[in-house]
Amino acid sequence: MKSDKQKRAEINAKRKRKAAKRQPVNKATDRRLRPVLGPPVNEALLAPNNSYGAPDFVYRGCYVDRPFRCVDCGKQEVWTGTQQKWWYEVAKGFAYSTAIRCRLCRRKQRQRRDEAQRVHLEGLARKKRAGRE
Ligand SMILES: [Zn+2]
Repeated sequence: MKSDKQKRAEINAKRKRKAAKRQPVNKATDRRLRPVLGPPVNEALLAPNNSYGAPDFVYRGCYVDRPFRCVDCGKQEVWTGTQQKWWYEVAKGFAYSTAIRCRLCRRKQRQRRDEAQRVHLEGLARKKRAGRE
């Protein structure tokens, strides 16, 4: 039968072997090895907003593809990280806005809006002319 001292020595030896097998954790190298999820966020280029917090992509540090369902036609689409970077940093879109329409419905919506604006402005011009006569 083994003595307590022998058992303890065996346990310690086993622990040592296990510790040697374990990879040393280095956070700096881990970060470098982490796969890039999407285009990096440049916070300075975002449109100013009065929010106390920040959108999730600011904390994450990069834009990731976001799947969504179009509110008009119900089609499943992906708002890519590159499109998001353009929307928030180049077009200066509101930081908490997200894509809700597919490409096709977005184009239709834009045409509808432009047409409504044209009709509105024509109406104003007609009213102005009528007022002068
Ligand atoms: Zn759609």
